[in-house]
Amino acid sequence: MEKTFFAFGTINYVNIKSDLKQEYKDKLIDEIESICNNLDDLLSAYKPDSDIGRINSNAGRKAVKVDEVTYYLIKHSILLSELSEGAFDITIRPAVDLWQIGKNEQRIPSPNEIKKIQKLINYKDIVVDDKEKTVGLKKKGQSLDLGGIAKGYAEDVIKVFLLDNNVDSALVNFGGSILAIGTKENKKPWNIGIQNPLSKRGEAIGTIELNNEMLVTSGVNERFFIRDGIRYHHILDPRTCAASNSKVLSVTATGCKGIDLDGITTALFVLGVEKGIELAQKMGIEALYLMESGDIIATKAFVDGKYKLKSIEKIY
Ligand code: AMP
Ligand code: MG
Repeated sequence: MEKTFFAFGTINYVNIKSDLKQEYKDKLIDEIESICNNLDDLLSAYKPDSDIGRINSNAGRKAVKVDEVTYYLIKHSILLSELSEGAFDITIRPAVDLWQIGKNEQRIPSPNEIKKIQKLINYKDIVVDDKEKTVGLKKKGQSLDLGGIAKGYAEDVIKVFLLDNNVDSALVNFGGSILAIGTKENKKPWNIGIQNPLSKRGEAIGTIELNNEMLVTSGVNERFFIRDGIRYHHILDPRTCAASNSKVLSVTATGCKGIDLDGITTALFVLGVEKGIELAQKMGIEALYLMESGDIIATKAFVDGKYKLKSIEKIY
């Protein structure tokens, strides 16, 4: 039983293979769609009534009370900002709005427009209150965007949901963030491809085995446009408020906590390979970089460990 639906600004796919009654699997998939829609209603920056929409429209004025889930994601995002020295920063929204990457209005803003928003991008301006569960933004014009972390969190929720409901074989793909539950038919492991960002969707540079874990990728291929031979993609560097030019094509991370993997791949992309590998190792996260130069640089588990992949060229 499989289904595709739209949420988190992307296409999401769920396939439950387990040997369970069809009706039961149908119900589970409907429930998954509804969990995702509810999360989207809470977290989308495009919905004025979402928690994020309300925080944004009250920026520079007052803090607003938010759901526990929103609060947790925002707190976690701040932690990731601290760990990545600001490479991951959910106050990036004004820059996302300016570029409109992947939307009909996508365009290259003028240096002056960029200058105007630069002072608005700073996670230190997020004001949180643990007791009241309120979140505010210090300056007018500031706004949050959880696009770099929400899908990974959603997969954490769905993983628990599937395991709690006796699913022992399933594949979930939320806009390129993949969760593999159990094994495929005949107890064969799930082989998950790592997308080649320069080829069409589905063309992998290699595969790895996954079991009850996730593979999350941040890459230049998800949302972008090309003008005069330059690729403008959706992973923005908070320092420049423009597409990160860290010479990276994509960063993939594997493990069991989607929220960390999603946030960290965005951060690792912006940090670039040297600082990025250092941070991944500090956090105990396995990461693989595909570089513009064609180099593949990864932590050891991709070479001879749990996530062994062929054709690794450089190892740190
Ligand atoms: P991902 O695909 O997980 O790398 O997330 C990219 C999305 O996160 C973008 O479409 C933006 O909505 C948002 N984003 C872009 N740059 C950053 C950044 N430096 N820190 C946090 N979120 C970002
Ligand atoms: Mg991410």
